Order: sequence, then structure tokens, then C-alpha cells
Amino acid sequence: MIDSPFVPQPRALFIMLDKLRIVLIGTSHPGNIGGTARAMHNMGLADLALVAPRCEVYGSESHARASGADALVSNARVHATLEEAVSDCTFVVGASARVRHLPWPMLTPRALGERLPRECAPENARAALVFGREDSGMTNGELQRCHAHVHIPTNPDFSSLNLAAAVQVLAYECRLAFLGSDAEDTETPFGVEWDNPPATHDDLERFFEHLERTLIDIDFHDPDNPRQLMARLRRLFLRTHIDSMEMNILRGILGAVNKQSRALAARKDGDGNG
Ligand code: SAH
Repeated sequence: MIDSPFVPQPRALFIMLDKLRIVLIGTSHPGNIGGTARAMHNMGLADLALVAPRCEVYGSESHARASGADALVSNARVHATLEEAVSDCTFVVGASARVRHLPWPMLTPRALGERLPRECAPENARAALVFGREDSGMTNGELQRCHAHVHIPTNPDFSSLNLAAAVQVLAYECRLAFLGSDAEDTETPFGVEWDNPPATHDDLERFFEHLERTLIDIDFHDPDNPRQLMARLRRLFLRTHIDSMEMNILRGILGAVNKQSRALAARKDGDGNG
């Protein structure tokens, strides 16, 4: 147990902080990119990804606000979509200032910090903390790509923090938790050594696409009247901590359903022609 920031820290702790990516969606003020870089560097984080920024990224304003954390701005990767920014991540958490219509697993900032060392334990693990636009936050679709949401408890009448300030609060909680966790003894998600690596965001997205196509194909899902079917299925599967083997099994089952439904359609066609 490390209880002082001045005690030399084992490499394992840094590996965990290295596994945490901060993702900013559609940022419109370069100062917030710089402020985020500074907040991250203060807390020992380095991996910054930007999704479709709406302002200049590498210019003087963001560098000025980064004050010394310039390298994080220079190294920030720009992506066209959230999916691309988190495709290799095994745990994705969306930061939201508002409560949404369809309830989603919620974490407090402290619970998020406490959970991260476990989530980051598997070798292929990578976690992302996603933040929304200054003016409109994250869309429901973006939030539904996350395993969980985190809300910083603020004044309910004035709940929205400045973007870089929100990054600072959550990055601080993550650092506290990492400092307090015994890196040598970090549990895996279910408290025991697991046999397969967790599925990545990319695996999950390809599965959701396949699932949706299949449900349309077998007339279970009507894309013209979708209700919240896919959102509810996303919530179900994102809650379960699927590993890569389980993912393969589910894809295999869908493949078998597709094959049967093609065979059935061909038979019907044959009957029609005969
Ligand atoms: N006006 C927007 C909020 C924008 S603040 C809205 O109503 O949604 C920019 C981003 O900072 C948010 O998308 C969120 O990721 C983060 N943020 C701000 N306040 C937060 C809070 N109280 N809890 C969690 N995240 C917060």
C-alpha cells in the first residue's frame, strides 16, 4: 500500500495510469484542450485523444493553457469518431453532467477510481474516460457506447463543470485510487484470475452491428420503429463484462442463425418457384 506521493512508486502503477485514455468529443475551445493536458499531466496521465474537435488543436492557445504539458497536446491523436478513439478499449466510461432518460450503470467519481485498477489488470486492458462538448455534452448514442457513466456530484441547480475542470476532478480520483491500490495484488473483474482477455470496444461494436442485422433479418427488430431495443441490448451486454471467447461464441451463434435464415429463405423461394 502506497500512502504517500513521495514514496517511490512501482512501475505497475504507472502502467495502469498509462492504460487510461482521456477522450474529448467535439471540443470547441482550444483553452480546454490545453487545460485538459495540464490536468492530465499533473495526475500522471498521458494518453489524450480528440474526437472531431471543433477548434484548432495544436495552436498557441491550447499550448499556452497547457503550460508545461505541451507534449500531451502535441501527442494528442485526432479521430473522426468515438468508436475509432476507443476501439482498443476494454472499459469505456462516459462523464455526464445530466441524468439521461434510459438509466445506465452509474459510478461516482470515487467508485470509478476504485474500479479502474481491476479493470486495467488484464494484459490487453485499456480504459477510456470520455467527455462531451462544452455546449451540448455527449449524445445519447455516444453515452450508449459506454460501459458505465460517471457523474460528479455538483449543485443540482448548476451541475455542469468546465470541461477541463471535470477532467481534473476525475483524473485526481483515478490517481488517488491508483496510489492506494496494491498493484501487485490487483484483482481481476470477478475477483479471480480470468481465463480470457476482456472483449474490446471494437469487438463489442462489431457484435452489436451483427446482432442488429440479425434481429432485423429474423423480423424481431423493426428499424422503422426501433423503440429502445438496441439501447437496452447494449446496456445488457455492456453490463456483463464479456470476454473475448464469450464474444466469439455469441458471434458464432449469430452466424448460425444467419445461415438457418438464409436456408429457410432459399427453401421458400424454391417452393414459390416450384
Ligand atoms: N452543457 C453540457 C455540459 C458540458 S460540460 C450538458 O448539458 O451536457 C462538458 C463536459 O464536461 C460534459 O459533457 C461532461 O463530459 C463533463 N462534465 C461537466 N460537468 C460534469 C459533471 N457534473 N459530472 C460529470 N461530467 C461532467
